[in-house]
Amino acid sequence: MHPVENRIEPTLLRRINERRLLEVIQQQGPSSRASLTRASGMTAPTVSKAVESLLKRGLVEEMEPIDQILGRPGRLLCMAARSAAVIGVVIESDRCCLVSSGLDGRFLESQTRRCVTPSSYDALLDVIEFHCRDLIGVLQGTVQGIGISVPGLVNERLREITVSPNLHLLDKRNPARDLEKRLSIQCLLFQETEALCLSEQLYGEARGRPDFAMLDVSTGLGLGVMSGGRLLTGHSGLAGELGHITIDPNGMECGCGNRGCLETLATDAALARLISEKIGRSIGIDEALEIIQSGRVDVDDEIKKVSQYLSIAIAAVINIFNPTTLFVYGGLLSSSPETLQNVVTQVEQRALAPSMADCRIVVARGSKRQGAIAGMIHHLTHAWAPSIR
Ligand SMILES: [Zn+2]
Repeated sequence: MHPVENRIEPTLLRRINERRLLEVIQQQGPSSRASLTRASGMTAPTVSKAVESLLKRGLVEEMEPIDQILGRPGRLLCMAARSAAVIGVVIESDRCCLVSSGLDGRFLESQTRRCVTPSSYDALLDVIEFHCRDLIGVLQGTVQGIGISVPGLVNERLREITVSPNLHLLDKRNPARDLEKRLSIQCLLFQETEALCLSEQLYGEARGRPDFAMLDVSTGLGLGVMSGGRLLTGHSGLAGELGHITIDPNGMECGCGNRGCLETLATDAALARLISEKIGRSIGIDEALEIIQSGRVDVDDEIKKVSQYLSIAIAAVINIFNPTTLFVYGGLLSSSPETLQNVVTQVEQRALAPSMADCRIVVARGSKRQGAIAGMIHHLTHAWAPSIR
């Protein structure tokens, strides 16, 4: 009789092969067994066995090729979309959004539910549970997990949101744990910038890039850094909180309790506040961006001010982390090519020339919805086996 230890290794190896195939399918889309064999560098029998196991586990599905060619084309393998599903939940300071997708990460507007963020934690859980049940009711596939994207500092050791400067009702809470109790479905918490990073890596321009950074400058200022293919987490998962470094010691109070944090100066929210002061009425980010687009109020000074601090933030990330690509997620940079060019020019003046030469600054095209889904799908494939590349 073989000792148990001897049987663990082949199981792990088998799973690592399966994970490799999942990565190939995620990167190149629906693939024949022959193309999986070519792309993975594994033998045809190994691929065949791994595919059978993934089919059995429900992570992939077979589909007919779209272009039927002469002869008998092999069926294609794709990430499971009919039999399996995930739900992404995005909690933001002013609104929440829920969306369902298959394991291919694709979703439709009709699969999206939106609501205003309630003012109490219990009401927040109620509304998320309600919309989850609604989505589950119309889904064909089995929901394999729910990814929840949250703002703030997620302490992975304590498994809670330590503090959420722009949504304090989440302080010391874990909505994933609480929702899991209500729905009996695996739920996981993702810091929103981390989720955006995973989304860009799985579905966006960062595919195959091991070193990139994601700077979220929408409501708060969050930073996710992918270094050598791994998310930089620090001891408790709190790394990357660039938003709360002090820029103006006498500046306005930040949600974290300090004054003059970078977050209060370099974000879409900061811009909305400056425009609110100018027009004498409190407006949100969407309205601020709409004012910029329409040109009905002259807000050039406000844009200039926020752009300056934004370039300081971007230059700091480039100097410290030396990424090959820096994705910036936020409305100001997407508002016009001129604003983007203006910020890039300022960053070029501030960042160290050799680090700047390595880095492209790109406006992030993903969404927090895609992020919450990507986080869950990443977990499902990662839980199956680690990637060894
Ligand atoms: Zn702060």
